[in-house]
Amino acid sequence: MGKPEPPPRRAPPSNLSLSPAARPSGLCPEPSPLLVGALHVEFSRPVNLEEVARINPEVKPGGRFAPKDCIAVQKVAIIIPFRNREEHLKYWLYYLHPILQRQQLDYGVYVINQYGEEEFNRAKLLNIGFTEALKEYDYDCFVFSDVDLIPMDDRNTYKCYSQPRHLSVSMDKFGFRLPYNQYFGGVSALSKEQFRKINGFPNNYWGWGGEDDDIYNRLVFKGMGISRPDAVIGKCRMIRHSRDRKNEPNPERFDRIAHTRETMSSDGLNTLFYKVLRTDKYPLYTKITVDIGSPKS
Ligand code: BGC
Repeated sequence: MGKPEPPPRRAPPSNLSLSPAARPSGLCPEPSPLLVGALHVEFSRPVNLEEVARINPEVKPGGRFAPKDCIAVQKVAIIIPFRNREEHLKYWLYYLHPILQRQQLDYGVYVINQYGEEEFNRAKLLNIGFTEALKEYDYDCFVFSDVDLIPMDDRNTYKCYSQPRHLSVSMDKFGFRLPYNQYFGGVSALSKEQFRKINGFPNNYWGWGGEDDDIYNRLVFKGMGISRPDAVIGKCRMIRHSRDRKNEPNPERFDRIAHTRETMSSDGLNTLFYKVLRTDKYPLYTKITVDIGSPKS
């Protein structure tokens, strides 16, 4: 058993802005003075999204926010690959909107919903999120997050660094440690330049596993390293669930990971094909439903 969790901190003021006199203009201070540190995260009570919208009045339609009294240090698109996980998304929105506002980011939440019954393709959905978010706003940073991962400390800022950032470093699922040193799954952040440098993510990983290892390889082959928060600030909880239908472990993943160096220039942003079927602007997020084809196409 680990140490008991610290008690929940007091909620931050509902008006998240600082007084104009204290910070009339200019860049938001780093770290944000609104941060509270460790957070209590649990998944026992159901979440009502209307209530979440009510307690986050400064979040604009489509899940957009920017601090009022200072200029955010980064414009961050949060990209969530998705299919049939409404309950998890509700928890994500409930916990993350207050955190991201306290982090004083200029951010938007994009849920990329895979249409149809084919095997799930997480990395391709992330490529689509990058492309579609940029059509809407000049984001300079992209945080790629699984829908079932919630940070347990708001000092784990959802922004980009000089090296690609791995944020979910200390997951309850893995006993609050990295499962292996090269692990890059869960939640990660890449700047626009970092993402383009590796030709985005692979489009050819259908089903569970391996795509995050491929992304790690890409970063290393392009001379980048991984930055991470420490194991305390990087703690996060995963919402327990059974394996999704059509997301079985991909038997090809080991072979594919072994060939990233040869495939990365011809599999990625430059070979990304998909069709947007619809875009829904909800109060707390933008949902983009996409036809991504199939492993055969
Ligand atoms: C898979 C990764 C996965 C990791 C942790 C690896 O074997 O290739 O995709 O994130 O295990 O579950």
